[in-house]
Amino acid sequence: MGRDLGPSCRQCRREGQKLFLKGTRCYTHKCAIDRRAYAPGQHGAVRPKLSNYGLQLREKQKVKRVYGLLEKQFRLYFEEAARRKGVTGTTLLQFLERRLDNILYQLGFASSRKQARQIVGHGFIYVNDRRVNIPSCLVKERDEISVKFKSTHGQKLIKDNIEVAKGRVVPKWLEVDYDHFKAKVLKLPEREDITFPVNEQLIVELYSR
Ligand code: SF4
Repeated sequence: MGRDLGPSCRQCRREGQKLFLKGTRCYTHKCAIDRRAYAPGQHGAVRPKLSNYGLQLREKQKVKRVYGLLEKQFRLYFEEAARRKGVTGTTLLQFLERRLDNILYQLGFASSRKQARQIVGHGFIYVNDRRVNIPSCLVKERDEISVKFKSTHGQKLIKDNIEVAKGRVVPKWLEVDYDHFKAKVLKLPEREDITFPVNEQLIVELYSR
């Protein structure tokens, strides 16, 4: 599947908030949002008042960018969520949270979702003792995720990420064992487990037009 290769910081500046797309840099003074908190482009400093449609569009773009998806992939998640029983917006967010690249980021094995995709692509990640190299793979309740190293470089990268992540709070639907590079999905995420600010109803309204 394709992915957005545009500059990450530009995406944050467009959305007017930190989306944490660049790993450790996002927590330093080098963060572009801290230095230039206005949209990119010639007229970026002027933020026009958004219409209803504009608000819906920005919310959808923001979520797409947080999870590193292109429109087609995102739309497929939405259509699948709409087919399922339950609240469409919540189901959509649950799908996104259950992606393997997101899980590695949430656990702290990767410093960003983008890096998580690379780690999965390199074949370091096993789900229930089977190697998985598809970042969009959706985990299920009671799945066990483990890291098996194939190179010292990969090992150092993940160990360094874990050192940074040890001070972070892991979502309560996941359980992690940093000493053995393992984690478990205790349950599927509920709406309240998704803590980044998002109004998913705006996305549902946009796609329902
Ligand atoms: Fe966004 Fe991170 Fe760049 Fe800051 S450093 S603008 S949070 S991608």
